[in-house]
Amino acid sequence: MTRIFSGIQPSGELHIGNYLGAVKNWVQLQTQHPGAIFCIVDYHALTGIYEPQSLRKRTYDMAVSLLAAGIDPAHATLYVQSAVPEHTELAWIFNTITPVGELERQTQYKDKASRQESVLAGILNYPVLQAADILLYKADAVPVGEDQVQHLELSREIARKWNTRFSPEGAPYFPEPKALLTPTRRIMGLDGQAKMSKSMGNTVGLLEDSDSVWAKLRPAVTDPARVRKTDPGTPEVCNIYHLHKAFSPPPVVEEVAVKCSTAGWGCIECKKVLFEHMETELVPIRRRASELRDAPERVTEILATGAERCREIAGQTMREVKEAMGMLG
Ligand code: SF4
Repeated sequence: MTRIFSGIQPSGELHIGNYLGAVKNWVQLQTQHPGAIFCIVDYHALTGIYEPQSLRKRTYDMAVSLLAAGIDPAHATLYVQSAVPEHTELAWIFNTITPVGELERQTQYKDKASRQESVLAGILNYPVLQAADILLYKADAVPVGEDQVQHLELSREIARKWNTRFSPEGAPYFPEPKALLTPTRRIMGLDGQAKMSKSMGNTVGLLEDSDSVWAKLRPAVTDPARVRKTDPGTPEVCNIYHLHKAFSPPPVVEEVAVKCSTAGWGCIECKKVLFEHMETELVPIRRRASELRDAPERVTEILATGAERCREIAGQTMREVKEAMGMLG
C-alpha cells in the first residue's frame, strides 16, 4: 500500500489558487490511497514573519477549509504538525547527517538568502524538517508541485544516508519517497501577476460569498490584446480561460476557446459563464464550511483524532530509529 503524505501552511482560509494547485488533488488521492496523511505545518510557519495572536486562528481556518474542500476523516488523517513533537525530534536527527552545503544549494534558500541580510537557521533547515515530516510516517509518495521537487530529492538523499549508516541488517528502514507531480494548473493572480497569493491581494477565497467572488472576477485581467469586443483573443494567455479549464466542463472550455479566438463574445459574458461553473463547485464547499463553523467541536475532534493516530505511528518510528542509532532514551 502506498502511503501519501503532504503538508500545507496554516495560512488561514484557502484561496482557489491553492485549492486548484494542491487540495483538489488531495481529495482525489485520499480515496485512491487509503491512509493518506495531511498535515497543517505550523512548525514550518514559524520560519516566516507571523503574528502569534493570529496563528491559532489561521491554523483552525485552514482545517475548516480543508475539511470543507473534501478532506474526509473517513479516508485520510488530518492533524496539526505541532501536536506531534516527533517531527522536530526526527528533524534534529536528520540534521546530524545532512551537510550544510546541500542545504545551501536549495533554490528556495538561495532565493531568500540573496534577498535578505540575515537568514534564519530554520529557513536553511526547512527541507530537513520536511524530510522528517514525510519519513516519520514512512510515506512512499508525496503530491508536490514542480517547485518542491528539489526538496523532495533531498528527503530521498537523507533517507538513503540514514539507511546506509543505521538500517538494521542492511534492509532500508526508510522508503525513498517519490514525487506525485500535481497536474499543473496555470492559475495566475486576478491582477495578471504570475502567482495568486494572499500577500499580493489578488486571490479569490474558497469560502468567499457569491457577490464577493463576482465583484473580484468582473474586473479581473484578461488577454490584454482584447481591447475591444471585436478584437480576437488568445485563450492560452488568459487567466480566465485557465480558470474555465479548472471549473467548467470540457465542452464549455472548447466553446470558450472558439468564442474567444473568433471574437464571438465579450470578456464579461465569458466571465459570467465561468462564475456559474465556479458556483456549482464552490456553493457546496461554502455550505460545508458553514456547518463546520457551527460545530467547532467537530473540527477540534477531527484534529485530535488525527494527531493521536499520527503520534502512534511517529512514536513507533522514533523508538526504532533511536534503537538503531544506539540511543538509550
Ligand atoms: Fe479571456 Fe474569455 Fe476574454 Fe478570451 S473571452 S480574453 S478567454 S475572458
